Amino acid sequence: MEHIECLIIGSGPAGYTAAIYAARADMKPVVYEGMQPGGQLTITTDVENYPGYPNGIMGPEMMELFKTQAVRLGTDVRFGLITSVDFSSGKPPYIVSVDDNIQISAATVIISTGASARWLGIPSETRLNGSGVSACAVCDGFFFRQQPVAIVGGGDTACEEASYLAKICSKVYMLVRGDNFRASKAMQHRVLNTPNIEVLFNTDTDEILGDKAVTGLRVKNNKTGETREVEIGGFFVAIGHTPNTTIFKPWIEMDATGYIITKPDSTHTNVEGVFACGDAQDKTYRQAVTAAGTGCMAALDAERYLSSVMHSK
Ligand SMILES: Cc1cc2nc3c(=O)[nH]c(=O)nc-3n(C[C@H](O)[C@H](O)[C@H](O)COP(=O)(O)OP(=O)(O)OC[C@H]3O[C@@H](n4cnc5c(N)ncnc54)[C@H](O)[C@@H]3O)c2cc1C
Repeated sequence: MEHIECLIIGSGPAGYTAAIYAARADMKPVVYEGMQPGGQLTITTDVENYPGYPNGIMGPEMMELFKTQAVRLGTDVRFGLITSVDFSSGKPPYIVSVDDNIQISAATVIISTGASARWLGIPSETRLNGSGVSACAVCDGFFFRQQPVAIVGGGDTACEEASYLAKICSKVYMLVRGDNFRASKAMQHRVLNTPNIEVLFNTDTDEILGDKAVTGLRVKNNKTGETREVEIGGFFVAIGHTPNTTIFKPWIEMDATGYIITKPDSTHTNVEGVFACGDAQDKTYRQAVTAAGTGCMAALDAERYLSSVMHSK
């Protein structure tokens, strides 16, 4: 069976940054790319908030550069999905299955499997994704400054993102499915007291309008059946994210949604030799730069862990 010193699961900003650091520490990292090589940024257009690109960069191009850098420094990047892990021994090496048919063993495992935004599932949302439809207000709100936008969701994140958008956009329509928010009282107050946020309760998205880019929205009151059209430039979905962590569930400590819990000020999980970084353990910031930052931490933590094991022998 092949033995790997540092196995990195996932090829987004967190995984590739971990790879860059692990390769430079001579840990011979192997990255398995998973079903979305390059991660979430490969489904977006301009990235304008990642430092070092003064004119912005397209998401897919940026992730190619991450990969090139990781490979140049000695990372072995492989196409394949980790389909199961066995951390039951609580001590490395751990056995991991790739594509359900190959087994490898790993001395350290870095989990950087990210999270997937939840979508409404209507055709116009898919058609206009990246052309005005987004699941990240902090990432894409800037492109709609001084324009009206809409946001769907009634939880804390939706309220937080609506408040963020209200500072840069002329008007924010907030679509809440029920007749009340799910958000905390404090967040509700903040939204309800922001003059340019109009909250539409009992409201569903009927259709996002626009040919090549979002130009408007048809909403439907789910109590009266009444529809209404509003002009918007951007449509934001804030109905939650699902971390890609199901295969780790039997062993790794997680919160109720599936976000991995790491030990304070580190990327250590509850299982020895297993580290987590990026969106898989971050429900608060969810940005490329924070994912990269924690990817760096995970590689440093893994390297220190390996050295401590070596010295204790
Ligand atoms: C539309 C959109 C636009 C965005 N725009 C910006 C922006 O402008 N600026 C910004 O900072 N952030 C932006 N973000 C957020 C940013 O993309 C994420 O915060 C960042 O990509 C998280 O990095 P990550 O490495 O943790 O995970 P991800 O990028 O989600 O990568 C996860 C990786 O894990 C792999 N994987 C999952 N399961 C397995 C498995 N079982 N085996 C092997 N591999 C697996 C996937 O294939 C993928 O490669 C945007 C997000 C979206 C969706």
